[in-house]
Amino acid sequence: MQQDKVWQAILGEIEVTLTRAIFHTYFSNTSLVKQADGLVVVGVGNIFIKNHIEKNYGDLIIKTLQKQGVKVDRVEYTTVVVPQKREQPKSAPDGQLSAVPATQTMPAGGLVSTGSNNLRQGLNDRYTLDNFVVGDGNDVAFAACQAVTQHPGAKYNPLYLYGGVGIGKTHLIQAVGNALQARNPQAKVLYIATEQFVREFVQALRGRTAATFANKYRSADVLIVDDVQFLANKDKIQEEFFHTFNTLHQANKQIIMSSDKQPRDIAGLEDRLRSRFSGGMSIDMQVPDFETRCAIIQTKAEVHQSELDPEVVEYLATNGQVNIRELEGALNQLLAWCDVRGLVPTVAIAASLLQVNKSRPKHLSAKQIIERTARHFRIPMEDIVGSKRDKDIVVPRQVAMYMLHEELRLSYPKIARELGRKDHTTAMHSVRKIARESQIDSSLRSAITEIKEHLYV
Ligand code: ADP
Ligand code: MG
Repeated sequence: MQQDKVWQAILGEIEVTLTRAIFHTYFSNTSLVKQADGLVVVGVGNIFIKNHIEKNYGDLIIKTLQKQGVKVDRVEYTTVVVPQKREQPKSAPDGQLSAVPATQTMPAGGLVSTGSNNLRQGLNDRYTLDNFVVGDGNDVAFAACQAVTQHPGAKYNPLYLYGGVGIGKTHLIQAVGNALQARNPQAKVLYIATEQFVREFVQALRGRTAATFANKYRSADVLIVDDVQFLANKDKIQEEFFHTFNTLHQANKQIIMSSDKQPRDIAGLEDRLRSRFSGGMSIDMQVPDFETRCAIIQTKAEVHQSELDPEVVEYLATNGQVNIRELEGALNQLLAWCDVRGLVPTVAIAASLLQVNKSRPKHLSAKQIIERTARHFRIPMEDIVGSKRDKDIVVPRQVAMYMLHEELRLSYPKIARELGRKDHTTAMHSVRKIARESQIDSSLRSAITEIKEHLYV
C-alpha cells in the first residue's frame, strides 16, 4: 500500500517531464516491487519496456526516487504481470518502507494535488481561444468551442473532439474551460486527463473515499475529460464515469471530451458510453492546411519575440513534421539554435536542423518496428509474423509491412520475409492498401502516427 503511494508520487513527477504517449506506453504498468537497503526493484510490463526504461529513463528514475527521499544506490528492473483489476496483492510488507520519510505516506487525496500535478490536472491558462489559430482542419472544432463558450450546457452537450496527436485538441478544450471560468469565476470548471481520472479513482477505491471522488466530479459545472480513449477496457471506471456523465448531463452541465478516435472506434468501450459520447456534437479534427500552419508558426515565433522571414516560415510549414506539436518543436529548436549563436534564422539553418532530425536512428531494426506495431494493436509478436488470417491480425500485419516500407525503405521481398511471408506481392498489396486507406481512415492514420511517435523518441 505504502509502496504504491511512493511509486504514484514518483510517477507523478516523471509524468510531467514526458509526453503523454511516452509516459503511458512505458510507465503505465510499472510498480515498485521492493525497496530495501538502497536497492529498489521496479516492476515493468514486459521485456521490451524493461530494456527501454533501463536504457533511457534509468537516471531519471534514480533522480526522482532520491528527490522523493527514497534511499537508493541501485535500481533493478523486473517484468511483472500487472493484475488488470484494482485488487493489488498485499504481498510486500509495509515495513520494508520504513526508510521513507513521513511525507511519503500522505493520504491518498494528498497525492493528486502535489505541486507539479496541479497544472496538468486543472486548467492551464497558456491555452486560450485567442491564441488558437483557426484554419482548414480545425475551424469546425473551433466554432463549436466558441458556441459552447457562449451557451454552456445548452447546444453541444457533450462536445467531443477527436483526431490524431498534436493537432490542438487539448489546447481547444482547455481554452473553453478557461473561457468559461473567466465568464463565471464561481463556476466549478474541472479539467482532467483520463489517466489521472483513472489513477484518482483507483486511489479512492483503495482509500475508501469513493464517495468523495464521485462527489467531486458530479458537482462540476463544466467537466472536461481529455483523451477518453484511455477508458477502454476499464470496466469499473467506465461505470463510474457513466453515472458522472448522466448526473451532469441531466443537470445541463457542460461536458467536453477529447479522444484520438470517434466513439464507435474505441474498442473496449461500453455501448452505453459510446452512445452517450456520440449524443451531442462529435467533430473530427485534422492537421491544419499549409496556410494555417504558416500562421501558427508566425504566431508562435511572435510569442518568442522573433520575427521570421516568410521563406523560413514556409519552409517549416512544408517540412516541419506532421503535427503542430512537432512543428512547434522544430520551430523552438531553430529559434534556440540561432539565439545561442546570435544568428538570424534562415532556410539553410532550418534545413540542416530538420535534416538531422529526419535521419533514422541506426539502431532501429525491422524487428523493433514489427514489435512496436504488434504492441500497438495488442497482439502477440508470434501472431503478427504467423499465419493466422483473422482480421484483427491481418490489418496489424499490413500496417507493419507499411511501416517497414515507410521507415526502413525495405524492398518488398525483404518486407515479406520479415513477416514470414514467401510472396512479395502480398507485401506490395498490403503497403499500397494501407497507404490508400490511411488517406481516408482517420483512426488508421492516428494508429500509424502513434506507432511512429513511439519509434523515434
Ligand atoms: P493534442 O491534444 O491534439 O495532441 P495539443 O492541443 O496538445 O494537441 O497541441 C499541441 C501543441 O500545438 C500545443 O502546444 C498547442 O498549443 C499547439 N497548437 C495546436 N494547434 C494549434 C493552433 N491551431 N493554434 C495554435 N497552437 C496550436
Ligand atoms: Mg492532448
